[in-house]
Amino acid sequence: MIAPLNDPAGRYIMQKKWDVIVVGAGPAGCAAAYDLVTSGRSVLLLDRCDFPRRKACGGGVTMKAARVLRYSIKPVVVATVYGIHVSKTSSTRRTSTAHNPCV
Ligand SMILES: Cc1cc2nc3c(=O)[nH]c(=O)nc-3n(C[C@H](O)[C@H](O)[C@H](O)COP(=O)(O)OP(=O)(O)OC[C@H]3O[C@@H](n4cnc5c(N)ncnc54)[C@H](O)[C@@H]3O)c2cc1C
Repeated sequence: MIAPLNDPAGRYIMQKKWDVIVVGAGPAGCAAAYDLVTSGRSVLLLDRCDFPRRKACGGGVTMKAARVLRYSIKPVVVATVYGIHVSKTSSTRRTSTAHNPCV
C-alpha cells in the first residue's frame, strides 16, 4: 500500500506496530524491505518523496547487480549491452565489446 501519512490509510499505517521501518525507498531500501518481507517481517517503507519520483539515472543495471537481486528484472529490460564506445572526438573513439552482457 502506498499512502500519504496525512490521510486515513496513512494514519492506520502510523498506528500499526511494525517489525522494521526502512527509511528511503531507493534501490537499497527497496532491496532491504523486500528481503525482510520475504523472510516474514512486517515492514514499513518510508520515503520523503511521493512516488513515482523524478530520479536522475542512466537506467543501467550491471550483471553483477542483477545477480544479487532476489527477483527477475527481465520484464523491465529494454536492451542488453555487450560493449561500449568511449570517445572525446571521433578520431579518439575506443570500443570495447564482450561475449557476455555487461549491462
Ligand atoms: C545521474 C545519475 C545516473 C545514474 N545512473 C545509474 C545507472 O544507470 N545504473 C545504476 O546502477 N546506478 C546509477 N546511478 C546511481 C544510483 O542512482 C545510486 O547508486 C542508487 O540510487 C543508490 O541507491 P540508494 O537506495 O542507496 O539511494 P537513493 O536512490 O538515493 O535512495 C534514497 C531514498 O531515500 C529517500 N530519503 C532520503 N532522506 C530521507 C529522509 N530523511 N526521510 C525519508 N526518505 C528519505 C530519498 O527520497 C530516496 O528515495 C546514477 C546516479 C546518478 C546521480
